[in-house]
Amino acid sequence: MEISERIKQVKSGLPASVKLVAVSKTKPNEDIMEAYRAGQKSFGENKVQDLALKYEELPKDIEWHLIGHLQTNKVKFIAPFVSMIHAIDSLKLLMVIDKEAKKAGRVIPCLLQFHIAEEETKFGLNQKEAVELLSSDEFKNATNVRIAGVMGMATFTDDTVQVRREFAGLKSTFEILKAKFFANDDSFCEISMGMSDDYRIAVQEGSTMVRIGSVIFGARNYQV
Ligand SMILES: *Cc1c(COP(=O)(O)O)cnc(C)c1O
Repeated sequence: MEISERIKQVKSGLPASVKLVAVSKTKPNEDIMEAYRAGQKSFGENKVQDLALKYEELPKDIEWHLIGHLQTNKVKFIAPFVSMIHAIDSLKLLMVIDKEAKKAGRVIPCLLQFHIAEEETKFGLNQKEAVELLSSDEFKNATNVRIAGVMGMATFTDDTVQVRREFAGLKSTFEILKAKFFANDDSFCEISMGMSDDYRIAVQEGSTMVRIGSVIFGARNYQV
């Protein structure tokens, strides 16, 4: 099946309110352009260098999402154009983004990444750390970042009960933070969860944004 058909197929299975971020990491520009011509305008990359290069080379109305771990010394390369940064896991990172966004004259939407997987290996905050971050004076004084919601990755497992439980946990974290910090702020609205293998469960559990790569572009050649 062609990329354009796979995009259509994925989209037809998503509620209209759920945004599709097509994860194009490791994939060449011609694959992205095929998706783009099929109407897909949001793409996700997990490496700053690849994101910056693809931004240079591809149409400027593409919305680029950084979905992977971000090092503070690399923020400056994407601050001028990135549409959303999905993986905020420290106040320090958020403050560097604020500084670079200010230089670029922008406000950058960011998602707090939560460690929801029961496995050990993934980056992310827990609820207590998120509360500390959102309560800090540094965050309150930041003018050029906007917390648009939360993001998480479930455990890579066939145990759908566990995956569902992890997504439900992220949704509940979202609700708690919404009530405590964003009750009157409609811009805190995104729950970024769901990948190729688990996006249907994520949508059932309240995802507003799915990040799908291999189902659209085919398997990647190397593990990223
Ligand atoms: C690679 C990646 C995805 C997409 O993974 P697929 O299984 O190919 O859909 C989604 N989110 C993040 C953070 C990723 O790194």
